Amino acid sequence: MKSYNKAVQFHGHSCPGLAMGYRMTKAALDLFSSERAKDEELVAIVENDACGVDAVQFLSGCTFGKGNLIFKDYGKMVYTFYHRASGKAVRISRIAGFRTKLSDPQISREERINLILTTPEKDIVQIEEINIPEPEYSHIFETVLCEICAESVVENKTRMLDGKTVCIPCYKKQKN
Ligand SMILES: [Zn+2]
Ligand SMILES: [Zn+2]
Repeated sequence: MKSYNKAVQFHGHSCPGLAMGYRMTKAALDLFSSERAKDEELVAIVENDACGVDAVQFLSGCTFGKGNLIFKDYGKMVYTFYHRASGKAVRISRIAGFRTKLSDPQISREERINLILTTPEKDIVQIEEINIPEPEYSHIFETVLCEICAESVVENKTRMLDGKTVCIPCYKKQKN
């Protein structure tokens, strides 16, 4: 479990959420026989922003900073991975029955983590191949200077305020 331990170092602690994210991400990478993404060859669409997403970022190389991690605020333990080279996408979720096992009050947190890490893949991870349009590549936008604070800001994030182009924080300050 060398790569799990490294994910723990990245995340800061070992927890059931990270372990689950680890199993789900591993399943996707194995399916595509993909390495960690250096650029945007792999895109992850995550439906929550909890612990497991750090396993996604660490293992798959789909990161917030590179723009190949797309967050949908649905509160669901679902990750979709898109592999640009093959045009394939997989939707990875947790097998419904597995949750019942985890909620057993008799088992400790450590045992829960171990259970997640050692259960055979078919009993824990649901994998569905799906068809989705290829996600767009991340854009590099022009930046301009905010006419109030003079800090640079990406053009498509600016607001107009009394004929001035301003950043969102300055816009909000004036409006309140
Ligand atoms: Zn955690
Ligand atoms: Zn400003």
